[in-house]
Amino acid sequence: MGKPTGFIEYLRELPLDRSGLERIRDWNEFHLHLDEEKLRQQGARCMDCGIPFCHTGTLISGMASGCPINNLIPEWNDLVYRRLWREALERLHKTNNFPEFTGRVCPAPCEGSCVLGINAPPVTIKNIECSIIDKGWEEGWVIPEAPSVRTGKKVAVIGSGPAGLCAAAQLNRAGHWVTVFERADRVGGLLMYGIPNIALISWPRKASHSSRTRKSEKIIPPKACSRNSTPS
Ligand code: SF4
Repeated sequence: MGKPTGFIEYLRELPLDRSGLERIRDWNEFHLHLDEEKLRQQGARCMDCGIPFCHTGTLISGMASGCPINNLIPEWNDLVYRRLWREALERLHKTNNFPEFTGRVCPAPCEGSCVLGINAPPVTIKNIECSIIDKGWEEGWVIPEAPSVRTGKKVAVIGSGPAGLCAAAQLNRAGHWVTVFERADRVGGLLMYGIPNIALISWPRKASHSSRTRKSEKIIPPKACSRNSTPS
């Protein structure tokens, strides 16, 4: 908990959106980011709860409560407050392969479960998450993670949507050679064809595919596949 009085001192604040007149000229994302000092204040609002309902994902009567992937939310809130952005990114990547997606399109059940929300507006968890990964890309901290040891095993992943890409990333991290097969002309699945740019801008998609899949995973559209297509 970076600042014990943060939740008393600071109000919840989200960045402004681009103006409507500007937004009608393109299809790009319209949410902006707060500056770093304001993001620190928002991180300082986190109380580092003894029972952080934000990060313990569970189903209550069939409805999601808390983060379904158990993001270490109190930890990276604290690290952002202490200006330790790279460490915050490392903690974020411990549980989340693609925070650039979830930080934008997740409905944020974490915020609905935030204890601070009982009697005040909840912590801006989703916006902080998105800001951490965007800073990671800006600073060049998001790089391919080649495993130190290869198992020699080859794994095929069918479909390059978010689930396929996450499975491929985890399998690669475990040392297997991974090939992702995709029937569409471009990779991404739901990310590419189901979510408009206004909600998920295109640069992280391109960056994710070109950077994190390089050297470790191949993504092969069906026409390019043969029965013997395996990673080299
Ligand atoms: S529930 Fe809210 S205040 Fe508590 S640790 Fe999670 S983000 Fe922080």
